Amino acid sequence: TTLHLSDPFLFRQQAYIAGQWQDAADGARIAVDNPATGEIIGHVPACTRAQATQAIEGCARAQAEWKKRLPAERAAILMAWHDLILDNVDDLARIMTIEQGKVLAEARGEVRYAASFFKWFAEEARRIDGAILAPPTPGRHVLVLKEPVGVTAAITPWNFPLAMITRKCAPALAAGCGMVVKPSELTPFSALAVAVLGERAGVPAGLVSVITGMPDAVGIELSTNVTVRKLSFTGSTRVGSILMEQSAATIKRLSLELGGNAPFIVFEDADIELAVEGVMASKFRNAGQTCICANRVFVHDAIHDRFVERLMQAVAELKVGNGLEEGSTMGPLINAAAVAKVEAHVSDALDKGARYVSAPLSVEGCFVSPVVLTGVTTQMRIASEETFGPVLPIFRFDAEEDAVRMANGTPFGLASYFFTRDLDRAWRVGEALEFGMVGLNTGAISMESAPFGGVKQSGLGREGGHPGIDEFLELKSFHMGAA
Ligand code: ADP
Repeated sequence: TTLHLSDPFLFRQQAYIAGQWQDAADGARIAVDNPATGEIIGHVPACTRAQATQAIEGCARAQAEWKKRLPAERAAILMAWHDLILDNVDDLARIMTIEQGKVLAEARGEVRYAASFFKWFAEEARRIDGAILAPPTPGRHVLVLKEPVGVTAAITPWNFPLAMITRKCAPALAAGCGMVVKPSELTPFSALAVAVLGERAGVPAGLVSVITGMPDAVGIELSTNVTVRKLSFTGSTRVGSILMEQSAATIKRLSLELGGNAPFIVFEDADIELAVEGVMASKFRNAGQTCICANRVFVHDAIHDRFVERLMQAVAELKVGNGLEEGSTMGPLINAAAVAKVEAHVSDALDKGARYVSAPLSVEGCFVSPVVLTGVTTQMRIASEETFGPVLPIFRFDAEEDAVRMANGTPFGLASYFFTRDLDRAWRVGEALEFGMVGLNTGAISMESAPFGGVKQSGLGREGGHPGIDEFLELKSFHMGAA
């Protein structure tokens, strides 16, 4: 693979540990492939557990100084990092497309989205304030101070190789914390590239490490080392639950952004054009591999056929292909296991009575065609499990209560969407949906300025928005008696 980067130094095949670029202590490496071609694009170190300890200790040393910096100084470094990311959008996007598969236009969008967190939290750094409480007794003053949590760790997934790191790292640094990041072993190069830019932006050595490696060495150390006070994870509910267990012994604070099973409800009074646009954006972005992708589409009987007809026209315009090629709108899935899951969900649904309205599923390497199924019921796997692929299952409903009940009938509670022009219904359904995020008449709900996160088994805590920085701050009540 020739990357054709304007700055080849952004492609690093070493880990960034305590301010030094390192190979694995035992020389072990992980091969990283391009899901579009199967070619190996490079290797990263499979770092040892001792190297993870080294990263944590280096972070503790750097953080002891960082927390004393003025918020405005911290903000200036975050803004420099932000600007460097925007100066390198094309290179970062190419690296991302080659290791992850998403099409270049989406990769560029993710790079800008990733940068936006540095700007937002640079701004928030100067607004960390506290409180002075009403005195309980004469002469007594009670203050509430906000202080950084300390050394933190991030474990991030492959579907958003850059944004899931900056969404954690930016508030951590703004708050005065340090962070050790373990990117997914499937997409480490975006993470290492952003580390290069952090170094150039003037992030003190050791404050942020990006340590590549496997869960059983690096992941276990980050979730069990007593110096790590907080762990922020984005990934599957399965792994989130393991990390919660591993963190239990040292009572770490946790932010968990886990799986979803997003409902997308189209009521009979919906603007059908808008609903089709919304479901296309929500379902097929990143080839269906996002935790907020519409996973279950509920369409009212009265407009079902019209909706499906318009939807099929939009689906016909998708062009599956290598993300680097001009004109591709949907890239490959991340690996063979992801393809197998899509195949299993589709064949299970067909066995239980669902029908294709699109062309049948076709698979070539990691590329799968977009699929639309009708006649889907709650008995099918696709109704209860996250498919993480470009399969759009359509359920029918008649009564609003049934749609809401089915939508809420999942252990997950991340994103949800509904389309209606009725104002009373908008409030009623918006309040009835048991999800951390609700989109009304829109399929796009990710932005740095709004809290992002889920309820139920979709996780703990919120990222972005004003609350995003609170995840990295402790409250200290300071009781001042009269001397
Ligand atoms: P899955 O492949 O099950 O969806 P995830 O995508 O949730 O796994 O994994 C996300 C991140 O979690 C990756 O960086 C992965 O290396 C890491 N990870 C997986 N298992 C563990 C574990 N037991 N401990 C720590 N990290 C883990």
